[in-house]
Amino acid sequence: MAFWREFMKNYWQLFLSIKDKPFKGIVLDPDTLQEKFSKNFRPLDLLLALLSLFFAGFVLSLLLLLFSPLGRWISPDSEFAAHSNKQEIQSLKRQVTELEQQMKSDQIYLENLKNIIVPEGKNKAHHPNVSSSFVVPTNGMLTREFETNDKHKALDFAAQSGTPIVSIQKGKVEKATFDPLFGNLIEISHPDRFLSKYMHCQSILVKQGDSVSTGQNIATVGSTGSLSSGPHLHFELFLHGKSVDPRTYLNLP
Ligand SMILES: [Zn+2]
Repeated sequence: MAFWREFMKNYWQLFLSIKDKPFKGIVLDPDTLQEKFSKNFRPLDLLLALLSLFFAGFVLSLLLLLFSPLGRWISPDSEFAAHSNKQEIQSLKRQVTELEQQMKSDQIYLENLKNIIVPEGKNKAHHPNVSSSFVVPTNGMLTREFETNDKHKALDFAAQSGTPIVSIQKGKVEKATFDPLFGNLIEISHPDRFLSKYMHCQSILVKQGDSVSTGQNIATVGSTGSLSSGPHLHFELFLHGKSVDPRTYLNLP
C-alpha cells in the first residue's frame, strides 16, 4: 500500500506541475515529416475530455440497458422476463382449472353410470327385513325429503328435463297415466308388496301391464301437473299399502 501511495503521489505531483502548461500535439506525415495537424492543449483539458468521454459512455450504456431490448436479454429479473413468466403461470393455471373441471365432470359421469348400471348385489338396500335390492330412480339432486307430517310423503329429485327415470326394481306397471295435479305418473308394483310412484314426468316410456326390469328406463324427468313448480321427480314408495321413507330402502349418499 505504501508503494502505491508513493506511486500515486508522485504522479499526482507531476500532473499538478504540468496541468496548466501548454502542450502541443502534432500529427506528421511520416514521409515528408510535414505537419499535418497540430493542436495546443493542457493536460488538465486532456483529463477532463477523458472523464467526460467515460461519463458519456456510462450514461449511454445505462440508457441502452433500461430502454432497449438489450437489458431483457442480459437481466433475468427484467420486466420482459417477469412478464413472460407471468403469462406462463397464467396459462398453467388455466390448464389446471380445465383439468379439474374435466375430472369433476368425469366424476359426475361415473356417478351417473353407477346409478344406471347396477351390478348384482351392489347398491343393495340396507333394510334388514327386505331381501330386495333397489336402485335410485333418477340422477338428480335431493331437494325435498320425506316428511312424516303427511305434507310430503315422498322424495323430490331435481334434475334437468329429459333426465332418465328408471324403475327402482323389477315389477309390473300398474298405472301409466296423466293426472292434472301430478302430471304424467307411473306406478309399479314390485316383489315383497312394494309399490313405487314416479310423478311430474315429461314423457312416459311404458304402458299399463308392462313388465319392467330393475333399472329399466321408464320415463323422463319433467314438470307436468299443476303441483310441479320445476323439473323434478316426485318419488313415493309404499310397503303393504303404507307410505314409507324411500331413504330407508334406497342407497342414497
Ligand atoms: Zn314432491
